[in-house]
Amino acid sequence: MFASKLPNVGTTIFTQMSQLAAETGALNLSQGFPDFDGPQALREAVGRHIAAGHNQYAPLTGLPALRQQVAAKIKRSYGRTVDADSEVTITPGATQALFCAIQTLIRPGDEVIVFDPCYDSYEPAVNLAGGHCVHLPLTQPDFAIDWQRLSDALTSRTRLIILNSPHNPSGALISRAELDQLADLIRGRDLYLLSDEVYEHLVFDGAQHASVLAHEELYQRAWVVSSFGKTYHVTGWKTGYVVAPPALSAELRKVHQYVSFCGVTPLQWALAEFMAACPEHVEQLPAFYQAKRDLFCELLTPSQFSFSRAAGSYFQLLEYSAIRNDLDDVAMAEWLTREHGVASIPISVFYQAPPKDLRLVRLCFAKREDTLRQAALKLCAI
Ligand code: GLN
Repeated sequence: MFASKLPNVGTTIFTQMSQLAAETGALNLSQGFPDFDGPQALREAVGRHIAAGHNQYAPLTGLPALRQQVAAKIKRSYGRTVDADSEVTITPGATQALFCAIQTLIRPGDEVIVFDPCYDSYEPAVNLAGGHCVHLPLTQPDFAIDWQRLSDALTSRTRLIILNSPHNPSGALISRAELDQLADLIRGRDLYLLSDEVYEHLVFDGAQHASVLAHEELYQRAWVVSSFGKTYHVTGWKTGYVVAPPALSAELRKVHQYVSFCGVTPLQWALAEFMAACPEHVEQLPAFYQAKRDLFCELLTPSQFSFSRAAGSYFQLLEYSAIRNDLDDVAMAEWLTREHGVASIPISVFYQAPPKDLRLVRLCFAKREDTLRQAALKLCAI
């Protein structure tokens, strides 16, 4: 048997915890996906487009109508005019877009800066390209970038910095001022950005998402990734996109065309049609998810968990030291699932070196009111 190219990779924590939830019959607030359906008109459109014969390969860059809708949305949300033909690429999921961007740039020996806790798909993609991740912990308890550490970590081998805002698993947001600070720090250096913005429309309490798309200087050296799965409550459709300046898009497309060639055709037709008919969907998302966050947090107020409300994403972190300070978060997530019927995600698995005494688990509140009430009842009973 050959030596593994990914010796440290096992089955993802999302799969493990979803499986444990299914085995034990626990409420599954672990893996991030809604337990409700996307808009009916969107779902019906897929069937219609399949019946209408939209079943062969889409163009490798994505259906023009969908790329135009993405460009129009970017104009409305961030004020940037992007060229739908040369700057927008539709991919089978944000995961594939992230993978392609990394393969496009990274060569053996290159360093990639990631911030821990870090979404799990970045590092294996970097390693497969022969690169090496430099892990910088976000500050506690607010999950912000430590600018001194970032500045100290930059070397002549640094080729890429991966940003994720709104952040999974903490929900923390990068501010516009921080993007400016980043621009100051990397000006004149030969390095690029990969900005994972899949939760771009899930920002609360009146905050604005500071997108790299809205930052003229940073955008010139960035791939910006998003996911229709998050925005339209259809994670199983695995359809996303990447936006980058023409030269960066052209290089990414060389990789994308041989990883998958194109995204799923009828889904792209349906998304294009729905985005044109219902542009207000994205504007309604912050209030829609904020109501879920607030309901969940209010229901958890009498519990022994402590927390501050997530600023963005559809994840809420809960601190549990008052309940089982003897358990690390992996053991705690298992205990909560088996003994109390609520599955969550431990966050230490997203660290190279988890902070000592980390006592946080992540719960997904992209759930029906009924699910959130049942989960809160169980969590308050502990
Ligand atoms: N992004 C989802 C989460 O954070 C999981 C997606 C997956 O299972 N790969 O829960």
